[in-house]
Amino acid sequence: MEEVSKSVAIIGGGFSGIFSLKEALENRLSATLFERENAIGGLWNPESGAMWDNMCTNISFVSSMISDYPWTSIPPEREFPTNQQIFKYLSDYANHFKLYENIQCNAKVTKVSRNHQQGGYQVEYINSATGQSISKAFDFVIVATGILKSFLSLATLKEEELAAARRKMFDSICGQLSIPSLFIEPDQPSFLAISDDYCKQVRDGCLIFKKAKVVEMTKDSLILDDGSLERVDDVILCQGYTVDLSFLEQEIKDAIQYIESDTIQPIIAHKEVFCPSMPGIAFIGIYKSADTTVMELQARWATKVFSGAIKPPTDEEMRKDSIAAAVQAMPDLKSLSTSNPSLYKMLYSNVNTPLIYRLSTNNTQHNDRAIQIIEEIDKLYYHQPNKSNL
Ligand SMILES: Cc1cc2nc3c(=O)[nH]c(=O)nc-3n(C[C@H](O)[C@H](O)[C@H](O)COP(=O)(O)OP(=O)(O)OC[C@H]3O[C@@H](n4cnc5c(N)ncnc54)[C@H](O)[C@@H]3O)c2cc1C
Repeated sequence: MEEVSKSVAIIGGGFSGIFSLKEALENRLSATLFERENAIGGLWNPESGAMWDNMCTNISFVSSMISDYPWTSIPPEREFPTNQQIFKYLSDYANHFKLYENIQCNAKVTKVSRNHQQGGYQVEYINSATGQSISKAFDFVIVATGILKSFLSLATLKEEELAAARRKMFDSICGQLSIPSLFIEPDQPSFLAISDDYCKQVRDGCLIFKKAKVVEMTKDSLILDDGSLERVDDVILCQGYTVDLSFLEQEIKDAIQYIESDTIQPIIAHKEVFCPSMPGIAFIGIYKSADTTVMELQARWATKVFSGAIKPPTDEEMRKDSIAAAVQAMPDLKSLSTSNPSLYKMLYSNVNTPLIYRLSTNNTQHNDRAIQIIEEIDKLYYHQPNKSNL
């Protein structure tokens, strides 16, 4: 009797989802890909994506090649392909591997929850053509919803308006800006990449630097936290993206330690793919990099694990993922929260220091010294009214 193949729901039809679908089918999984837009492509989709008309890749065709579907003409006419060529490349790949019959477009996934009785997961989605809400059971779920689409919210403008504005701006106004103002939130750490010209531009008055928090953006102005209003013609948003995983039920969000507002590391997963105590769900392409090579490898790994071709990592292996765990220096913060709550509070709220990796050693001398310094720093910098945070 032929074995019934396991089912997998893949959420997202960009590179990550399309790689996952092809690998899932190759590993004999019964796969369905859900894409909320009316076509695949994700960020490269010419209608709903994020590319402006004349945008080219910043990674050469050599590095952004699909490992089992090389560019047909090598070298192609350009070393850095246009966004239209990339979209065509992905669409051709989907055609070549006959993926379209397993793709459902206009299907926005609204909820993924664990199916505690039967095992596996329940996936709910809305068919945007009919408005119908549908729920289906799957053995496995692959989340491939991307990381570069949801802007950090600035209230009034809708995401589509912002996306359209972004495309238009790069096409038409680059190089024609008058004197730009740079707004930096005063009490947030800034991850600034400062250009060689930055200081000169500020000195020459070509760039005006303002320390203010923008609390709202309207069509022609910015509203600052001191209540003042700043008229602007154009806005370049550089405050990062949030990863929208709102469709995951709370139990799954807790397992991956999802923090929506964290623009650097919104989820914690082993090799950015699996997480302990949540078998059967994998994340593809949910990491900060623009590298399709890693997405492809992640997709190959996840689908081989789901098909049983290779063993999944154990919970213990996943928990020992960090270098600190490998050298047995991971502090046990949970027990610290009861054994020494004031130290726990200092570490959690104030003092961010490598000394924490000396707290769990058997060497009491190291241990005591680390605690002593942490307490001194906490006292010096966080308990004086006029000292700002480190
Ligand atoms: C301007 C720009 C330039 C870039 N340049 C390069 C480059 O030169 N080279 C390179 O390799 N990479 C580049 N990248 C990086 C790019 O992120 C990756 O190449 C790749 O497109 C990411 O694919 P993805 O599938 O992970 O995400 P996405 O392309 O974002 O795809 C995610 C898909 O999931 C869908 N989705 C989301 N939520 C749901 C839901 N609830 N239900 C159903 N579907 C959903 C979305 O509609 C989307 O189609 C660039 C990115 C940008 C923005």
